[in-house]
Amino acid sequence: MDYRYDHILIRYGELSLKGKNRNVFIRQLKENIKKALKSFSTLEIESQHDRMYIYLKEEDPNEVANVLSRVFGISSFSLAIKVDSDIDAIVDACLQTLDFSNAKTFKVAARRSDKNFPVISDQINRIVAGAILKNSAWKVDVHHPDYKIVIEVHRDSTYIMTDRMAGAGGYPVGVGGKAMVLLSGGIDSPVAAYLMMKRGVRIECIHFASPPYTSENAQQKVLDLASIVSAYQGDLLVHIVPFTNLQLAIYQHADESYAITLMRRMMMRIAEGLAQKRKALVLATGESVGQVASQTLESMVAINSVVNIPMIRPLVCMDKVEIIELSKKIGTYETSILPYEDCCTIFTPKNPVTKPRVDRCVKYEESFDFESLVQECIQSVESIWIHPQQKEDQDLY
Ligand code: ATP
Ligand code: MG
Repeated sequence: MDYRYDHILIRYGELSLKGKNRNVFIRQLKENIKKALKSFSTLEIESQHDRMYIYLKEEDPNEVANVLSRVFGISSFSLAIKVDSDIDAIVDACLQTLDFSNAKTFKVAARRSDKNFPVISDQINRIVAGAILKNSAWKVDVHHPDYKIVIEVHRDSTYIMTDRMAGAGGYPVGVGGKAMVLLSGGIDSPVAAYLMMKRGVRIECIHFASPPYTSENAQQKVLDLASIVSAYQGDLLVHIVPFTNLQLAIYQHADESYAITLMRRMMMRIAEGLAQKRKALVLATGESVGQVASQTLESMVAINSVVNIPMIRPLVCMDKVEIIELSKKIGTYETSILPYEDCCTIFTPKNPVTKPRVDRCVKYEESFDFESLVQECIQSVESIWIHPQQKEDQDLY
């Protein structure tokens, strides 16, 4: 008989802690998994109180696992195979499905819920381990095995689970409301977007572009970043704001040292206006205290004071090294470091203020009609739907 992985067992993450909301979370998780796996047309999903099963039918287990690894709300999952409760079938299935191409350590953990099964758990372990040792270069390690092979013997069938893989953790996207993330082409904001989604928050992104000072390439880079992070929630709406007129007006009417602060205040106003329109509850940015002149506490005060909407800064106390590590893990780093200009880098003053004064910001802003320019930006936003890359070019980290 030919054996291959025929289902995937999914263990829930933190959501198992949430008593009353549990059903809501499981339903959302199932919907998200369904959406993420929609290109695998033959598989079926079944949710239970404490686990979910994906029946693979004709789909490739590794391709499905790769997509699953980015769905929040899953703590871990295992490729699994269902066989008859028969010791020879169990041994055959293990030998056929395990990948022996690399030397690995392993441990077999059998459990017999059907006490009528003629072989006791300990003996199942020995028989299966013996067969693996005989047919491969694998070695037993009962304390820290690379592979733990779990065998559950029930009366009707036996489930063999190998290769427990880490899920993405967090909460299912959609259970936590919606946020508008300010997405630049840098390293930080894609990581901030990822962290928001990890908490179950659905996101839309807003990006400020200053053509012709910023290029098509710069904008494409932002859309590429959006596509990478969109794998964590399905599709993603990106709003591109034409920011040039407002930026030029700032340069005309304010001292150069205040340009960045004023630009940020305008960004917040526009983002708040768009958030209201799109029913997003909060804004989120990739700011981190002290990283650059515009990210001192004084700057944050000056920037925050123009909006009422709450601002979330997921990276606020992280070191750059930690942020970079995370961006490599989620796959955005290589794109983020491509050398295309951002609207902020082009208009960067030589000596930006590190401790901007709110009264001076207000004075500069009173000298021109920024309100109508802000409204114009909100009106002329171009919104683009972004989707995760196709499954064939989607490779895990
Ligand atoms: P990042 O790596 O995310 O670009 P940064 O370290 O370069 O951050 P800043 O340039 O000061 O820091 O930007 C701080 C935050 O402001 C960014 O994380 C992002 O959320 C937002 N931001 C900056 N520029 C833009 C832009 N052109 N469009 C949208 N958001 C922006
Ligand atoms: Mg930046």
